[in-house]
Amino acid sequence: MNASQHLSGTTPVSVPLLDVVGGNAPLRDEILAAIARVVDSGRFLHGPDCRQLEAEVARRCEVPRAVSCASGSDALLLAMMAFGIGPGDEVIVPSFTFFATASCVWRVGAQPVFVDIDPVTFNMDPEQVEASITRATRAIIPVHLFGQCVAMDEINRIAQQHDLYVVEDAAQSIGASYQGRPAGSWGHVGCFSFYPTKNLGGMGDGGMLTTRDEKLANRLALYAAHGMEPRYYHQVVGINSRLDSIQAAVLNVKLQQLDAWNQARARNAARYDELFTAATLDRQLVLPTTTRKQCHVWNQYTIRVPDGQRDALRAYLAKANIGSEIYYPVPLHLQECFEPLGYQVGSLPETERAANEVLSLPIYPELTEAQQAAVVGQIGRYYTKRMRSAA
Ligand SMILES: *Cc1c(COP(=O)(O)O)cnc(C)c1O
Repeated sequence: MNASQHLSGTTPVSVPLLDVVGGNAPLRDEILAAIARVVDSGRFLHGPDCRQLEAEVARRCEVPRAVSCASGSDALLLAMMAFGIGPGDEVIVPSFTFFATASCVWRVGAQPVFVDIDPVTFNMDPEQVEASITRATRAIIPVHLFGQCVAMDEINRIAQQHDLYVVEDAAQSIGASYQGRPAGSWGHVGCFSFYPTKNLGGMGDGGMLTTRDEKLANRLALYAAHGMEPRYYHQVVGINSRLDSIQAAVLNVKLQQLDAWNQARARNAARYDELFTAATLDRQLVLPTTTRKQCHVWNQYTIRVPDGQRDALRAYLAKANIGSEIYYPVPLHLQECFEPLGYQVGSLPETERAANEVLSLPIYPELTEAQQAAVVGQIGRYYTKRMRSAA
């Protein structure tokens, strides 16, 4: 305990960035029973649990079909493969996202074309998308970053005008919607991830594709199974991308809690807003915003820390056992592996500014009010200390 905590009589509260163990704990028995059923069934791949999960995700996304696969990254890759995207093609993607959004394009031999973000939502800016279309453009991958949807009405209007495929990267946004329509139902294909830290996380990797097009669903499933139909006859060169039955069994148990978890995340976001505003820290920081058009599912609560203070603030929080993370510190257009594409510092100014300013705070459903107060309190102390030392 330090001196000021001693005087104020508070004990330090540690706040991890994530608490996957705590989140799973109330479901432990149910999860273990579901896993045991798979063990006893001997159907480790494409078992009934996979079919159940596909049906349930399709229902929630208001689409007729969902196709399971091994990861969110594979979902994106399978979409590229099923659309026959390849050398000579361009695909428009944000640079402020996780790597898999762009690597799927590169993997099939096509060229990712990076566009800048709207600084308010951190999402791909539709105007920039339109400006980046060339005769080689085949598809757009809007990423619903941090749990909030891209303006999909605008993306779809642009795509229709130019006859482009729309592949939604909804890895961070299961349960989100825009204008009342679910993420994963707007594009030709929606891609979801069950990586443990997503809003619906498995105990390992997993992914799902959603689509309104039955034929396309079959094609995606074909590519996820070595292009093999019937057995040992290969129509196309696919990959092996299957969801384990054990993962599906775990996810079926957890899916029943998804709405409650998403609501808890939204409650925590509203509580941060109140605490930051009450402490007048909204003068130093930029808080995340959303609109009534959106149902935001808060995979991340991401603030902006201006004036070059981000890294010092993060270190100060870490010393007090408060977790935080930078999603993402290096924009994709500046990654070493994409050097051949010829982007430079300054190519996408809003993306680069965001990479220098963003800080994601703990937002998981089980976070307590006391923990949130500790996060905000510690950020307040950082700024008080800084003002004192400047004076
Ligand atoms: C997590 C994530 C992915 C990849 O999902 P995996 O299941 O980890 O392969 C893709 N895009 C975004 C935006 C993500 O956050």
